[in-house]
Amino acid sequence: MEKKYLLIRLISTIYNYKKIFFIIMMFAYVYSCQLRINKNQIGSSNQNISQKKMKKTETEWQRILSDQEYKILREKGTERAFTGKYDGHFQEGIYNCAGCGSQLFESETKYRSGCGWPAFYDAIPGAVEEHEDNSLGMQRVEITCSKCDGHLGHVFNDGPEPTGVRYCINSVSMDFDKKDNE
Ligand SMILES: [Zn+2]
Repeated sequence: MEKKYLLIRLISTIYNYKKIFFIIMMFAYVYSCQLRINKNQIGSSNQNISQKKMKKTETEWQRILSDQEYKILREKGTERAFTGKYDGHFQEGIYNCAGCGSQLFESETKYRSGCGWPAFYDAIPGAVEEHEDNSLGMQRVEITCSKCDGHLGHVFNDGPEPTGVRYCINSVSMDFDKKDNE
């Protein structure tokens, strides 16, 4: 009698573990799908982000931005290689959007790529959006600010570890905020 009871207990315990295992697997699956969605944001602007967008008319932007900033941020221009103020700049701090001030890149992710523009291997989560760009006879991925849609630069798949990507960004599109070492 006692043995039989123990056996039933054992079977039900194993069954419960299986259930828990199944639930964990379900969570892992849902989470991994979520990650894939986050990684494949090219061209998509979800409801949350678009609600927080900064909207201005072109006349307002012209008033706020310098001629050079307007040309790059609003007209998708590119500064000449090796001329940008942040190309060889390696202080500790945060690089913000020159259009709206939102935080884009951390200095820890900046590296010397030699390409002539500031390069980062990662962006602050949610700070930038990706768009297909087939202009100038090239297939590239354009990077814009999530908040104001200002043009920042492009992202390429030739970056260093851990991400393997290179965000190639115009210095003009950014303002640097030095970290306070308190
Ligand atoms: Zn912005």
